[in-house]
Amino acid sequence: MYDLIIKNGYVVSPSSTVKCDIAVSGKKIAGLGTYSGSEGKRVIDAEGKYILPGVIEAHMHCQAPFQGCLGANSFYEQSVSAAHGGVTMFMDFANMGKGDSPYTQALARAEEMEESAIDYSVHGKFVESTPEAIADIEKMAEYGIPTFKMFMTYKKEGVMSDDETMLKVFEKAKSVNGLPMVHCESNAIAETNIEKCMEENDLSWVNFAKCKPVLCEAEAFARAVYFQEYVGNALLVVHTTNGEALNTARRAHGKGLPLYVETGPHYLTLFDDLYKGENGHLAICSPPLRTPKEAEELWEGLKDGTILLTGSDDCTFDVDEKSLFLEKNPDGTWKQDFTKVVNGMSGIEIRLPLMLSEGVSKGRISINKVCELTSTNIAKIYGCYPQKGVIAPGSDADIVIVDMDKEVTLSKEVLHNNISYCLHDGFQVKGYPVMTIAKGDVIVEDGEFKGEKGKGEFIKRKINPDYLERYGLN
Ligand SMILES: [Zn+2]
Repeated sequence: MYDLIIKNGYVVSPSSTVKCDIAVSGKKIAGLGTYSGSEGKRVIDAEGKYILPGVIEAHMHCQAPFQGCLGANSFYEQSVSAAHGGVTMFMDFANMGKGDSPYTQALARAEEMEESAIDYSVHGKFVESTPEAIADIEKMAEYGIPTFKMFMTYKKEGVMSDDETMLKVFEKAKSVNGLPMVHCESNAIAETNIEKCMEENDLSWVNFAKCKPVLCEAEAFARAVYFQEYVGNALLVVHTTNGEALNTARRAHGKGLPLYVETGPHYLTLFDDLYKGENGHLAICSPPLRTPKEAEELWEGLKDGTILLTGSDDCTFDVDEKSLFLEKNPDGTWKQDFTKVVNGMSGIEIRLPLMLSEGVSKGRISINKVCELTSTNIAKIYGCYPQKGVIAPGSDADIVIVDMDKEVTLSKEVLHNNISYCLHDGFQVKGYPVMTIAKGDVIVEDGEFKGEKGKGEFIKRKINPDYLERYGLN
């Protein structure tokens, strides 16, 4: 007798869509094939629905002290919101200041995440390259944390890695089959521009985006890739927003460099015109939102394999935190000062819906590609495949059932993220998750959360060395 049988759905993998049943025993997938209803303690009829491996979010910042703010969701609340969007595992970043041990901070972060209802992991973070910090890389990799994040900007905020730190982390990561993750923005370009805006006393939302133009990102992207080529390591660049950076990636791929590029659904669906609005500060994130033309470049990159990953970069701040340090003009409008606005936007719950709707329903990419971009490729490059990221016997029974005919108008009311606004308010999506199953337990059903606080487990990760030696995840 199986614990669960899912019947009649289309089971999606990166290479196929097959109509078959899924049998689940305990936390694991027991088999794919044809099963009779009487073989399961519970039977779910998924006729007409698509069944994907649970979404993995490897890029979010929850309860992360930054620019005087902390975020609106606890880790438990974040896991509830995530689960409604089909997410069955997420990863966050260690909080690091100068003098902190990256290893100790990563373990502390994992402990904070214990209240999560879904499985979780942590990335190390580097802000300096003392011998002690670099030595922590080996300890983290041994513990099952083989990914190390660095920011090329945010010097004033105290979290920037300088070039020497990047080089040293790249070298050490290579020696332990680890993977550095880099946020590419030129601190020199960004901060010089911001200083000019301060001198001219124009810190409008629109100027925020102008201070961090495409070349600000592309310069840092190219520099990181030159360092990668020099050291010979694998590299992952998070939240890429533009065609110029993608052309650098294409050249790197032409040389065979294992350079993995992520983008986020917000760069595919939201644009810099939002900064013209009175509440443009709610859309301040780094890199900034770009133009529809850059979004088209990103779709091309998704189609041609230059981009193999998506991540939401979720930073859920409510209006009170986004506006915490702002003042108002006598007429009640904001006295615009983008230097006083915490960077980041919410998105973990809508990553899958946006990829299904803008990608599959609009005919840009296949549902198999969405499976790769939201789950399989994430599991592979971050080192938790095939435990995660695939519906196959022996894998964790992390499953999302999708109704490609379901139409939803996005608004704060339909989401579960604890904030009072939605940047996608009124956005129509077609294709939506209708059930989320984590390690065999139905945790979201009919829009209702049925999971359990603290049920998530820390997942130890180890990356397949093949992915780190050459480009590609096949
Ligand atoms: Zn981020």
